[in-house]
Amino acid sequence: MEKTQRISITNLEKNFQEVERALTNQEALEESNRCLYCYDAPCIKACPTGIDIPTFIKKITTGNLLGSAKTIMTSNPVGASCARVCPTEELCEGACVLNHSTKPIMIGNLQRYATDWAIKNEQTLFDPGTPNGKSVAVVGGGPAGLSAARELAKFGYDVTIFEAAEKAGGLNTYGIVSFRLPQAISYWEVEQVEKLNVTIKTNTKVGKDVSVKHLLEKFDCIVLAVGMANVPSLGIEGEDLEGVYDAIEFVKETKSGRLSMDFVGKRAVVIGAGNTAIDGATSSIRLGAENVKILYRRTLEEMTAYDFEYEFAKQDGVEFRWLTVPKRIIGDDHGRVIGIECIKMNLGEPDADGRRRPIPIEGSEHVLPVEVIIKAIGQTRHLELIKGFGLQHESGVVQVNKETYQTSNPKIYACGDVVFGKGKGDAMVVTAAQQGKQAAYSIHKQFTAVETAQ
Ligand SMILES: Cc1cc2nc3c(=O)[nH]c(=O)nc-3n(C[C@H](O)[C@H](O)[C@H](O)COP(=O)(O)OP(=O)(O)OC[C@H]3O[C@@H](n4cnc5c(N)ncnc54)[C@H](O)[C@@H]3O)c2cc1C
Ligand code: SF4
Repeated sequence: MEKTQRISITNLEKNFQEVERALTNQEALEESNRCLYCYDAPCIKACPTGIDIPTFIKKITTGNLLGSAKTIMTSNPVGASCARVCPTEELCEGACVLNHSTKPIMIGNLQRYATDWAIKNEQTLFDPGTPNGKSVAVVGGGPAGLSAARELAKFGYDVTIFEAAEKAGGLNTYGIVSFRLPQAISYWEVEQVEKLNVTIKTNTKVGKDVSVKHLLEKFDCIVLAVGMANVPSLGIEGEDLEGVYDAIEFVKETKSGRLSMDFVGKRAVVIGAGNTAIDGATSSIRLGAENVKILYRRTLEEMTAYDFEYEFAKQDGVEFRWLTVPKRIIGDDHGRVIGIECIKMNLGEPDADGRRRPIPIEGSEHVLPVEVIIKAIGQTRHLELIKGFGLQHESGVVQVNKETYQTSNPKIYACGDVVFGKGKGDAMVVTAAQQGKQAAYSIHKQFTAVETAQ
């Protein structure tokens, strides 16, 4: 990015506009005509939501963009967001047979082309089902909760989503940087769910504004889809200094349009190497930081961020310091960050999650002069709420039946990041969406089985 661009809020705003260009009509037509429409298409199996990819692409070739968008969104209630944020080279595009000869079909970009058309033309894609007299409370309006709510509403359930934030959409609305996923896309997906008569109670935190007891008494069934929480603390000296940020909160600020000039010309380090760290680093660059380094205690091999995220960060000029761990944050007399003391690591034997354990190298301490520190070492869990529901969990990861998503309480189902276990790489929007669907199907199966038995 040109340094001369980094001078005013207006320029900073431009830096947060969507980076990836949309396909033109001609490009979309040419690309969709490359699809071989494979029998038993491997791309469908590689998509966690099982979108009928050859069919939606075929519909683009015939100019049936409404049909194409419907095919996508039927399988994936957040298909417009996924078109932008899925690690496609690891999923659908990675499985395309054309990888063996030329290059894979740009499935993500075509998915974006069709869903952008539906957004631009203000289409309503689905109708609610006939009311069946049963009610479901969905706690959390992110990809998992929206997906469960959408499917349940199509079956005729009376669905209420309780959402703690001002707007629904979860991390699609507040977490994934706007230069990859603008908020308008997430809002459209929320609207599609609302149009099925789903009530969305925003600014309503379960456990605070509404009690767990109330939900258990008032609703026939509950879907817990609260995701994960904020970044845990580093547990080192100086974390409360001015200039130290929680990556999730920091990205939320940028997505809410609250950009400041505070980063202009500053040196920043981001601690961690998942997608959140990359988003924190690339956002810092866009806010005008002079130099941004990602510090990670392991190596590129163990990094959990997707390859495309890593490449994106490198293109933005982010530097990586592998095998480096912060020991202490140093402040000036005014309580502002001026440096970070780090220590180098070696990798030892694998630990419980199979990754090699970093071991400090004595005497390798060194200080990096910085003014901004962004913590991105994972996310904590909604432990209190999970305990409030009395659910079985492992360190805050709710335990579910892997097929039905039913928890230890038969009336409560859980899906998305709230069931995502440690050491399994980074969580994905598309998986959360699929789990939401599966939880909805299990609930419907449970109720219809009871009705048939009666
Ligand atoms: C910075 C960042 C970048 C990411 N980038 C990508 C990416 O590029 N591609 C990708 O596929 N995935 C990415 N992910 C992961 C992806 O965003 C998540 O896996 C996905 O959003 C999980 O969906 P969810 O519905 O389970 O949780 P969330 O999206 O977290 O939604 C949970 C919702 O529950 C609400 N909630 C929480 N507590 C309560 C309560 N007590 N009462 C009511 N509501 C509550 C929250 O406000 C939130 O809206 C990224 C994650 C982060 C943090
Ligand atoms: S949802 Fe994601 S994985 Fe599935 S087809 Fe679309 S881009 Fe590919």
